[in-house]
Amino acid sequence: MGVYHIVYSPELKEICLYFDGGCNFSCHGCITRYYPQDCHLDELPRDTKKKRLSQREVISFLKSLSFRRVIFLGLEPALDPDFLLLAKILKERFSTYNIVLTNGWEYIDDKAIDEVCVSIKAYSKTIFKEFTGKDNPEKVLENFKKYAENCSIKLRAESVFIPGYIDNEEIEKIARFIASIDSTIPYRIDAYIPFGGKDKFRKPTKEEMERANTIAHRYLKKVSILHKGIKVRDKVKRVY
Ligand code: SF4
Repeated sequence: MGVYHIVYSPELKEICLYFDGGCNFSCHGCITRYYPQDCHLDELPRDTKKKRLSQREVISFLKSLSFRRVIFLGLEPALDPDFLLLAKILKERFSTYNIVLTNGWEYIDDKAIDEVCVSIKAYSKTIFKEFTGKDNPEKVLENFKKYAENCSIKLRAESVFIPGYIDNEEIEKIARFIASIDSTIPYRIDAYIPFGGKDKFRKPTKEEMERANTIAHRYLKKVSILHKGIKVRDKVKRVY
């Protein structure tokens, strides 16, 4: 448990804190398990997982940096006992804008959190169960609605596009669901990244991603896509 990796974007004044507190889902090709470090780093991954940082160590790494936003990610931050405590300390000491990336299974309601990005893995019950190992997507969808009703939290959504599995039909269902709450909620579709050479799923093509973008745009006003062909605008540096 705890923070195992930190990156910093000076242009954005943004810190990413990667947590290793486990996850209640078991998604096929889990990006954090296969690619535990920030994929925008311009260097080879290092093994920092052996040593998790204490809260004091995290603060000592950050205090000399100029930052405003902190993103909490990694495995499921909501399950990590260090996550909320750190969010509170950072808000108090550095007046940070705190963003958490979550699978939506737990509802996080705390004044230290400014923004939540819920990863909606699937809308259909069978796909959700098969992909995450959990029975009811309704729990995530209900939590998503609760976030939308919470005026003190800004809400975003994201999904992973997997050709032949979680593709146009499923993305359309998710986009329709989000639009039924609020069509202005931002929605990002990420291209699936296969692991090793043995994955049964492949990465989507640029055309497939653009098609998914068009479909989601039928329902939502703010849709974006992320795949390898898209240039990263802001450099990130390793802090730990
Ligand atoms: S919810 Fe995220 S961290 Fe958890 S298994 Fe799925 S991809 Fe991995």
